[in-house]
Amino acid sequence: MSILAVGTVAFDRIETPFGKRDRALGGSAMYITMAARFFTPHPRIVAVVGADFPEEYMSVLESSGIDLSGLEVDGKGKTFAWGGKYHYDLNQRDTLYTDLNVLASFSPVLPDSFVNSRVVCLGNLHPAVQLRVLDQVESPGFVLCDTMNYWIESTPDALREVLARVDCLAINDSEARELSGEPNLVRAARLIRDMGPNIVIVKKGEHGALMFTEEEVFAVPAYPLEDIQDPTGAGDAFMGGFAGYLDAANSFGSDDLKNALVFGSAVASCCVESFGPERLLALAMTDIENRINAFRTLTTIPASQIQVRYSALH
Ligand code: AMP
Repeated sequence: MSILAVGTVAFDRIETPFGKRDRALGGSAMYITMAARFFTPHPRIVAVVGADFPEEYMSVLESSGIDLSGLEVDGKGKTFAWGGKYHYDLNQRDTLYTDLNVLASFSPVLPDSFVNSRVVCLGNLHPAVQLRVLDQVESPGFVLCDTMNYWIESTPDALREVLARVDCLAINDSEARELSGEPNLVRAARLIRDMGPNIVIVKKGEHGALMFTEEEVFAVPAYPLEDIQDPTGAGDAFMGGFAGYLDAANSFGSDDLKNALVFGSAVASCCVESFGPERLLALAMTDIENRINAFRTLTTIPASQIQVRYSALH
């Protein structure tokens, strides 16, 4: 069992109606591995930080059991920094700034110990960097990919190359519509599947997610929480939970994928309960299990009596 995530490790500035954080530990690869570690030991991170990345954050990652052999420290520059401000409708977010810094010249070289990774998560990054990682892993069992509107618009050809080589694409509903040029999500997913990924997961924020495969569609809700502090990283935590579960299951059949989707949604729902990775850092496996049980109660449809009643009338 081994999972690798390439993406960002960042300083995040987060503003929500419920509070603020500055220079919080963030980044797609951080959230993916922080979520995956509940299911599979020592998730491998591939990312870059600058000379300003504090020892304290290194220790947080290390003590969380994340394998940092692929975390490059570029002493010549600053760490990637991102700022986002959420509206009262937490599905609405304005990007305050994106300072690429050391990410601008990031060209990952995988440590030898990472090339045999079984599950590979290509977090939101330039598709050329995602391809570079794909070129270095040896016959992975399952490859997942995330992207965003910026890459859909600015690097469509490289993105198509990535899509042709992945098993699963997990993207937001608006991105699925943009990538496919199709407003209906069912048709959009079919068009995206034609681009390469056998599985398409469409994330719909507080409305849950849909998973499309060749045979079926499966839906998972987002857990209806009373107190959401900060949605940052929910999509990445979802990906980490999904991928981590699959790696632990060591099998990628229909039931594994469905269970992985529920576990991904459970971890994501925990992530948004505090700012940045604060909740993920404090989380125990029992919290995730409790959330899974709550999902079961939320979604179980009791056996229908309608046929019996109808028969009684005739
Ligand atoms: P999400 O809420 O799922 O969009 O993830 C937010 C996380 O992604 C934050 O921790 C950011 O540091 C990171 N992030 C924001 N913009 C980018 C980008 N353009 N490329 C890679 N990571 C990003």
